[in-house]
Amino acid sequence: MDLFYRSTRSNSDGVKASQAILKGLAEDGGLYMPESIPCLDKSLKEFAEMTYQETAYEIMKLFLTDFTEAELKDCISKAYDSKFDTKQIAPIVEKDNTYFLELFHGATIAFKDMALSILPHLLITSAKKNNVKNEIVILTATSGDTGKAALAGFADVKGTRIIVFYPKNGVSPIQEKQMITQKGENTFVVGITGNFDDAQTGVKQLFGDRALAETMDQAGFQFSSANSINIGRLVPQIVYYVYSYAQLLKTGNIENGEKINIVVPTGNFGNILAAYFAKHMGVPIAKLICASNENKVLYDFFDTGIYDRNRAFVLTSSPSMDILISSNLERLIYLTAGADANRNVEFMKALAAEGKYEISADMRENMKDFYGNYASEQETADTIKTLFEKTGYIIDTHTAVAAAVLSKYKKETNDKTKTVLASTASPFKFTRSVMNAIDTKYDAMEDFALVDELSKIAKVKVPKAIEEIRTAPVLHNTICDKEDMKSVVMKFLGV
Ligand SMILES: *Cc1c(COP(=O)(O)O)cnc(C)c1O
Repeated sequence: MDLFYRSTRSNSDGVKASQAILKGLAEDGGLYMPESIPCLDKSLKEFAEMTYQETAYEIMKLFLTDFTEAELKDCISKAYDSKFDTKQIAPIVEKDNTYFLELFHGATIAFKDMALSILPHLLITSAKKNNVKNEIVILTATSGDTGKAALAGFADVKGTRIIVFYPKNGVSPIQEKQMITQKGENTFVVGITGNFDDAQTGVKQLFGDRALAETMDQAGFQFSSANSINIGRLVPQIVYYVYSYAQLLKTGNIENGEKINIVVPTGNFGNILAAYFAKHMGVPIAKLICASNENKVLYDFFDTGIYDRNRAFVLTSSPSMDILISSNLERLIYLTAGADANRNVEFMKALAAEGKYEISADMRENMKDFYGNYASEQETADTIKTLFEKTGYIIDTHTAVAAAVLSKYKKETNDKTKTVLASTASPFKFTRSVMNAIDTKYDAMEDFALVDELSKIAKVKVPKAIEEIRTAPVLHNTICDKEDMKSVVMKFLGV
């Protein structure tokens, strides 16, 4: 029987997985949710014997029920191949009593690769299944990492084009260089004069523009989203949580059935939501620790039950988490409100109108799985330095936010539960912030000299993704105001 997906904002009929992937966002502006979260149909001991690819198949088949076995396996084998620099795909490194789940071994050395290397294949397959003739235009707002990972995933994939908007002054120099050097006839990268939320709001408006959709359709195009709201991103992210538990079981680090905690550096709430799904599928997870940087909307939310985006936007050294509206939180709101679209709509209306809403006591009770906290810039830097001095292991700024929050959590609760920490980026992606945290003397060095120095002190080879951009020419230099996003899109498509 097929699993259907419903919008979080209306009680309209459900759609199949392939249709939800094609649409990205539901027509009413809501996010697609499966009617129920499926349970694992194999034991974790069986998972312990599986490769990453086999695990991916076992998880994804439960969600993407209208894909055939051959289709899914084809997508998986195209995604998780030699683009990753390790056969394990997502290896676990134990340091300082924490299991760092390294999600940065893909093409762009950040965790977005885990889902974005498979999304193009899921999308093309979905288009075929639904007899879509239009060319698919991926429209994405990025706070840094999604953009490059999406560009890398979609570049020169037949039947697709991709347009990426990023905040011109809100990403790291290496992140920007990665994007504006992107090859591929079907790629288009635009810097906007605004922050990530402006970019995301602009993209949402384009998706909601019916007249534009009509014009596009006549010209043989249709939009789709590669943002983390697409279930084609959410589902592949569940895989590594199951895989990490099974690997710890296999290596004897945990007993069968032993509960673990998971800590995730959080921005749009997609990655940690995948961990929540894993828990509800049957992985023994106790706490889901939601780590924020100084944009601590989520910490305040878990602390008070009030979501309030009315505050100054802070540019931090973990830019992929500089977010005031965490889109995927809507899915948790919907679930904890009893899968009640009408209740969810009221909150989302309040968020749009006043920038805030308050959830009820019963909903807070339903969120007990979560613990939220945040790390200041200083705490983040101190964490990088301390861990390096203690173990020689160097983590990036986002991962460090999670590590800092984990130590706060342990101090506060004295909880000794073994913990998996989602390491979301390679330190080479945020070299300057990372090296400055270790010693301010590094600030005098130029970007690529710093990269070499990091490689030396960490005793880690410079990743291919960084080597490639050292000398790559800039191929994209469009900059626009947030009001002009629509005309830029139309011009690129020639409509
Ligand atoms: C995107 C990203 C995050 C935040 O993940 P969400 O799923 O948006 O919560 C954290 N760290 C890095 C490096 C990222 O690229």
